[in-house]
Amino acid sequence: MVPQTTDGPRYAVCSFGGTIAMTGDDGVAPALDGDDLVAAVPALADIGRMECRAVANVGSPSVSFDMLLEGLAWAHRMVDDGAAGVIVTHGTDTMEESAYLLDLLWDRPEPLVVTGAMRSPEEPGADGPANLLDAAIVAASWQACGAGVLVVMNGEVHRAVTVTKTHSFAMDAFASPWMGALGRVVEGAFEPVTRPDGPCPAALPIPERVVNVPIVYPGMGCDGTVLRALLATEDCPGIVIAGMGAGHVPESYLDAVDEAVSRGIPLVMTTRTCGGRTGRTTYAYPGAEIDLERRGVIFAGMLQPLKARILLGVLLGLGESGQTIAEQFERRGYLL
Ligand code: ASP
Repeated sequence: MVPQTTDGPRYAVCSFGGTIAMTGDDGVAPALDGDDLVAAVPALADIGRMECRAVANVGSPSVSFDMLLEGLAWAHRMVDDGAAGVIVTHGTDTMEESAYLLDLLWDRPEPLVVTGAMRSPEEPGADGPANLLDAAIVAASWQACGAGVLVVMNGEVHRAVTVTKTHSFAMDAFASPWMGALGRVVEGAFEPVTRPDGPCPAALPIPERVVNVPIVYPGMGCDGTVLRALLATEDCPGIVIAGMGAGHVPESYLDAVDEAVSRGIPLVMTTRTCGGRTGRTTYAYPGAEIDLERRGVIFAGMLQPLKARILLGVLLGLGESGQTIAEQFERRGYLL
């Protein structure tokens, strides 16, 4: 173990597994915890004392909402107890979802920074140590205070609400398409290059559970069978649609859309285009935004399908419905 300073600032390192923590000869699997990751980066001692807690050690496809709520509760306790910031180490596959969930619920000014790696620790050019150091630099920066949850990968700093994994293997897999990164880590410091227009929306109350919401992804020729099948399940809490273009579906979906709305099941429309927002006033044909809004569909604006699903899951977990859900999407989807 690298000796850690006993005075100076303390940081909480909450680990969930992922490639950053994976080793193995015949394919890699989670093996290392936060203490191991910290021990591999001696320069962290210059930033402060890292106190680690392994909430899970899994591939990130298996990270659950409950694990995240457990990590969040620990992070709250740590900052209440004086920690200057929080670093979350996590697999990259679902990093954008975890980061956004934490962002919706993180109500403290102390930075909360999520990082991981595209290459495992034993691979040549492993990026985990550099990413962890960069994450700690950002967590220690006054510029990150009150900036919402940030994702630090490959020297770039992204807001949780905008970041997405854009490549399965590339080192520069993480990007904020259309919006751009918030900044970079340069010569040991966080340098923001853009700033959100206004203050981040206030955190939501922490739900006891986050509801598991399905995403329907229509393609050409789809006839709404999947949507109808979901509505036929006993407990369909709400549905996100990764709509075509500015948030459109084929006409063959409309009877199911009407059924969902009449049963009070929130239907949230996003765009599957990976950039831009859903429309409001351009297209009026059956299945387009003007028609769907009149039918009672909620539009998610700039929130991409995975992020809209997290927001809807939190709101449903809080017991919200109807107008309140629509208002939250209006507030959080159009002014990122
Ligand atoms: N490919 C993944 C990663 O980069 C595996 C995971 O998400 O856990 O961490």
